[in-house]
Amino acid sequence: MKAEIIAVGTEILLGDILNTNAQYISKQLALLGIGVYYQTVVGDNENRLLNAFKLAFERADIVITTGGLGPTADDITKETGGKYFGLEMVENDDAVKNVSDYFKGREMPESNKKQGLVPKGSAVFYNHNGTAPGCMIEKDGKTLIMLPGPPYETSPMFEEYVIPFLKKKSNITIISKVLHLSGIGESAAAEKIADIMDKSENPTVAPYAKPAEMFFRVSARGKNEKDAENIMRPVIDEIYNRLGEYIYGEDECTLEEAVVKRLESKNLTIASAESCTGGLVAGRIINYPGASKVFVDGVVSYSNESKIKRLGVSEQTLEKYGAVSEQTAKEMADGIVKVLGADVGISTTGVAGPDGGTDEKPVGLVYIAVSVKGDTTVKKLNLKGSRNKIRDRVVTEVLTLLLNKLQ
Ligand code: ATP
Ligand code: MG
Repeated sequence: MKAEIIAVGTEILLGDILNTNAQYISKQLALLGIGVYYQTVVGDNENRLLNAFKLAFERADIVITTGGLGPTADDITKETGGKYFGLEMVENDDAVKNVSDYFKGREMPESNKKQGLVPKGSAVFYNHNGTAPGCMIEKDGKTLIMLPGPPYETSPMFEEYVIPFLKKKSNITIISKVLHLSGIGESAAAEKIADIMDKSENPTVAPYAKPAEMFFRVSARGKNEKDAENIMRPVIDEIYNRLGEYIYGEDECTLEEAVVKRLESKNLTIASAESCTGGLVAGRIINYPGASKVFVDGVVSYSNESKIKRLGVSEQTLEKYGAVSEQTAKEMADGIVKVLGADVGISTTGVAGPDGGTDEKPVGLVYIAVSVKGDTTVKKLNLKGSRNKIRDRVVTEVLTLLLNKLQ
């Protein structure tokens, strides 16, 4: 199936506005696997528009226009489309309703009445964002789709009416899967699958970044669900091959959900001892509704005194190495396990800034630890950014470390 796009409007030819509608529609058609070989821009002139239709329909099955559906005399797209197919203009109830809905409670200018007319036999697309209904003519195996010009009217209408129509017509099913990653940055992850992304046409693979996390969306199109699934599967498998250690979940899965489920599947309980994150780790875990099965308790232990009293961190450790140190992080994680009798303990201690950094211990220096049944791993982080950014990042890092340790 081939499609062409005709943007109607003298102001585009004059360079007054940029033809972003063509860009948007081309991109959408590419996702649907529909070939676009020509885009045309033509002014508000009946003869030239008729010629553009003629040329476009010699090359394509579907022509999509934008612009020229308004109430003024130079808005001639619908009339010209009708003329091209030899169809008279008739009043259409849905189109009339669209226009009168828009003017509800106000007087409708006489000129807008013409927006209630469409070429006979057209399907009408309701415009929720303006007065101009869109419409579609299907005749002799050709389809002409006419959409309004303002982009905030064009794209919602395209999504509501045109995409479902094209999917059905082309017998296409599109499925997509989201792979969530943590513990690796967006560019490093993208680098590892650069070759897959470069040639990704079907399925498409696109990266998205979140603070300290990222995900890939893989979308495949096929004749049906199964066909699309078969096209998608090898690429998903290959991404797992290369990045599996960082992938914690699919689709709607959150990091906290992955953590809770991992703990649950291993029959482990967890407790947290947090200094620089001040409870954010506990909050994040409890964010997941099933957390009560695994989460025992969380201690916010900010002062040295509290670290000694509540977690059993030794005074000598704090004196010799300081609160922000590998040793303290370890003793905090081990301590919370001992104090609360959980299977897993996690801890955070660091300099979140903006003040308090020294040459030896700069802002962004954070130690996190995960203790699983007496086996404790400590990780040193050097983070950048604002206080909140650093603290959010620490939460993601410690949950990622935990997941990795519970592989
Ligand atoms: P209206 O009811 O607003 O007159 P219309 O369907 O008649 O809508 P036009 O009159 O052709 O559309 O264009 C209206 C406005 O929409 C333009 O001034 C411009 O801002 C925007 N527009 C039109 N065509 C495009 C395009 N191809 N790309 C981006 N913006 C466009
Ligand atoms: Mg107009």
